[in-house]
Amino acid sequence: MIRIVPREEYCIGCRLCEIHCIVQHSRSKNIIKAFKSERRPVKRVEVEEEGHVSFALQCRHCDEAPCVTACLSGAMQKDPRTGAVVNDPERCVGCWTCILVCPFGAVRRDEAEHKAVGKCDLCPDLEVPACVANCPNEALLMVEE
Ligand code: SF4
Ligand code: SF4
Repeated sequence: MIRIVPREEYCIGCRLCEIHCIVQHSRSKNIIKAFKSERRPVKRVEVEEEGHVSFALQCRHCDEAPCVTACLSGAMQKDPRTGAVVNDPERCVGCWTCILVCPFGAVRRDEAEHKAVGKCDLCPDLEVPACVANCPNEALLMVEE
């Protein structure tokens, strides 16, 4: 099971993780197009900031995931192979129950699609998730448990 662990002592709140998350989940995966000409995808990581303290928050891929238990449509599922909690937008009906039950606030509405939710999927097409790979300070670590 892969998890992304934030290290607040190294995070400077630059939000590059958010930018690279958006690019990775865009249609073209091109930073200019993703921000200037395409529909911008929902970011799946959010930098929380209070004074000098900041850290990047994304889905913890809980072992007993409340969002998976609560999802009536079966859209939110735990991948038995990787342990990642993933959302199937084709099955999602946009009831937002997963948003209510996530104790980390790690699920976001995709207003444009109005049925899918945006959450970390651990970037299945990449060896290292985009936020981890592009953090200049190694404030996000990928750990295998
Ligand atoms: S918003 Fe979608 S993924 Fe979340 S609980 Fe409802 S149907 Fe499931
Ligand atoms: S979305 Fe929230 S409840 Fe669901 S696995 Fe991720 S952290 Fe846990």
